[in-house]
Amino acid sequence: MRAVTVIPGVPGSLRLLDDYPEPATEEGAILVEALAVGICGTDIEIIEGHYGEAPPGTDHLVLGHEALGRVMEDPTGTLQPGDLVAGIVRHPDPLPCPNCAVGEWDMCRNGMFTEHGIKALPGFARQRWRLQPRFAVGLHPALGEVGVLLEPTSVMAKAWDHIDRIGQRAEWQPRTALVTGAGPIGLLAALLASQRGLAVHVLDLATEGPKPALAGALGATYHSGPVDQLDFEPDIIIECTGAPVVVLEAMCKVAPTGIVCLAGVSTGGRTIELDAGALNRTLVLENNVVFGSVNANRRHWEAAAEALARADQAWLGSLITRRVPLSEYASAYSPGPEDIKVVLDFTA
Ligand code: BGC
Repeated sequence: MRAVTVIPGVPGSLRLLDDYPEPATEEGAILVEALAVGICGTDIEIIEGHYGEAPPGTDHLVLGHEALGRVMEDPTGTLQPGDLVAGIVRHPDPLPCPNCAVGEWDMCRNGMFTEHGIKALPGFARQRWRLQPRFAVGLHPALGEVGVLLEPTSVMAKAWDHIDRIGQRAEWQPRTALVTGAGPIGLLAALLASQRGLAVHVLDLATEGPKPALAGALGATYHSGPVDQLDFEPDIIIECTGAPVVVLEAMCKVAPTGIVCLAGVSTGGRTIELDAGALNRTLVLENNVVFGSVNANRRHWEAAAEALARADQAWLGSLITRRVPLSEYASAYSPGPEDIKVVLDFTA
């Protein structure tokens, strides 16, 4: 069967193989036919050779961690043939650490977790894959192709879950949320914020293209200037750019007792000047919390599936700005300036 692969650590090794083996039954009882795979910055980093790890004993890693498929057979009866399904990206470490032991693998403490399409597990950019029932998430049938947004939504559902938990340390009645970065992750963060009834603000460099209107359609206020020039202090900031200056400005701008969730992965290697003492003083005197958030566990995937089912399907559909047939796979990994989410289409 066909599969999109790379040799991790080797830039330019992206290939579409025709003879990739069928998924082994040990991968899981549920056999799935691939419908679509979403592309994100992590895929590009892996293709450029900066990230990623092949499964033990192999050189090749099948890409793809944002999956949408249709169940072909499920002898366990968990799902029915024809059901839409996504596969949970991360699997717990084998020890397991205290968090992985209780299904909170998104909080793995020893780094020995594995991730489909990223770290030591084949991804979903292959025509067929298998899942164990505990890593399979069924989707509402009405979702159709926008079900491919489940994985990035799960990452944001986790971020919101942790914001809620941190908020419980005091009387917490947040009113305003700022999302920095209006890519797919930022817009999905804004969607979840709007579903919570918060006054939502989205900030991005773009003044043209689809981003301002997509934020506006959620009822959010769109800003394109620097964070430190906003005329209000947000109770919550979800930082999705990973851009060093934006990260620092977010930490300084958040309201007293506010929460800053860092969800953008920076490339590193750039230094900027920082008055660490002044930043520390603000965080201490205002009881602020800054925390990092990555990945998602089953609870978050289920919360994300509910959030997508409640959302405006046309709005979700407009996040997918390009659908690339599998035969033209390489162009899917070169996002254009106006792309939000590019999807590799396995049905074309
Ligand atoms: C994925 C996460 C993953 C992270 C680090 C992100 O692109 O969405 O599921 O944990 O990369 O590998």
